Amino acid sequence: MFAQRSLWSKPAALKSSYEAVIIGGGAHGLAAAYFLARDHGMNDIVVIEKKYIGFGGSGRNTAIVRANQRTQENLPLYKEALALWPVLTRELDFNLMFYNCGNLNLAHSDAELKAFRLNVSSAQFMGIESQMVDPKQCKELIPALDISDRPRYPIFGGMYHPPGGIVRHDALIWGLAKGADSLGVHIHQDTAVSGIYVKGGRVESVKTNKGTIATGRVLNAAGAYSAAISYHLLGIRLPISVLTIQAMVTEPLKPLLHHVVSSGAYHCYANQSLKGEIVTGAHMDPWPNYTTQNSAYYIKHQAESLTELMPCLKGAKFMRAWAGLADMTPDMAPIIDGNDPIDGYYLNCGWGYFGFKSAAITGRYMAEFMASGRCPEILKPFTSKRFVEHRLMGETAAPVIYSPNN
Ligand SMILES: Cc1cc2nc3c(=O)[nH]c(=O)nc-3n(C[C@H](O)[C@H](O)[C@H](O)COP(=O)(O)OP(=O)(O)OC[C@H]3O[C@@H](n4cnc5c(N)ncnc54)[C@H](O)[C@@H]3O)c2cc1C
Repeated sequence: MFAQRSLWSKPAALKSSYEAVIIGGGAHGLAAAYFLARDHGMNDIVVIEKKYIGFGGSGRNTAIVRANQRTQENLPLYKEALALWPVLTRELDFNLMFYNCGNLNLAHSDAELKAFRLNVSSAQFMGIESQMVDPKQCKELIPALDISDRPRYPIFGGMYHPPGGIVRHDALIWGLAKGADSLGVHIHQDTAVSGIYVKGGRVESVKTNKGTIATGRVLNAAGAYSAAISYHLLGIRLPISVLTIQAMVTEPLKPLLHHVVSSGAYHCYANQSLKGEIVTGAHMDPWPNYTTQNSAYYIKHQAESLTELMPCLKGAKFMRAWAGLADMTPDMAPIIDGNDPIDGYYLNCGWGYFGFKSAAITGRYMAEFMASGRCPEILKPFTSKRFVEHRLMGETAAPVIYSPNN
């Protein structure tokens, strides 16, 4: 008989002091905690989560991972991110279900083809596998695609990125929580941070609904709530808008979609889960709000787009729909800061609709930043100073949602 083991231990009582406090039990917060304990011997850490781990975008995303970004600042980070999944699966001894089925981005105009060529060249320059494909090759990759001139937006070609794919999102959350817990990190769910106190320019303590914690280091990894925390608790304003992003799955179907496919013109992407469901998303409500409701408009839009792209899906039933929040910066790149303007205050947020794929690797570098106080080179471009210095990144044409609106 095997003894039954739970994924992680019952949390000890919240202590009155910790070496570091991490706000947010999403993938970014948990990854930073895990790597702080694993690589830097810092295990006197608490992760404070106001609801439950994975409550935010980390438990609601469509799990797409890829490295074919556009800019030289983003490409190295996402390349390392993609290479980390199999390694992390082994290290955590937890199946993250990394399925590198490849990503196909469809182009529906000459302008899109031109933009993809730039992405492909930048990716190839950085040693990332990415190539242009014509409509016939798109059809070979995904036989269900309609490549005729019947659809509203006929397919002109595409950008194919073989090493990308999907990772099971809740597996990442559970795996990181299990890993962090086994290294002594405390994880406190149902606990909310409501104050951060600063003395002499340094972080001194954090207030929660379960008590105040003395600490010299705080990481704000609160996803969609990170800008509000920064502003209301510390007076630091961040250029982040919070938008609702919706997703849904169909009933399970026989295998028909063997790659992630996305289309900017249709504003739609899809992959088939290992259970057979077509997982689809991309719609973003264009006005800032904090709702996680779906809208009838979006459900209709998604059904129309999917069945135009892949007519064999006509008649398939949507089984579940949900929504989450995306913390969007003006240049679609994250904000990573530390020790400026407050010593001991670190920020990792603004991940919008693309922060799942980068969470584990960013957590590893964020841990290095917090342990040493020095920002690793790879994270330096993401400082919020870029907005003041007019050095915005050109990632707005990132291909997952390649839309004229963004
Ligand atoms: C529908 C949808 C689809 C997406 N698809 C993809 C995709 O395919 N690929 C991809 O790479 N990305 C995708 N994303 C984006 C990705 O999910 C996010 O960028 C990422 O999960 C952000 O992780 P995080 O840890 O920064 O924040 P979150 O996961 O949001 O975690 C933040 C946590 O902080 C907690 N919190 C907030 N305030 C407080 C407080 N005061 N005290 C304590 N805790 C607090 C919240 O409860 C939350 O659990 C998608 C997002 C959505 C919503």
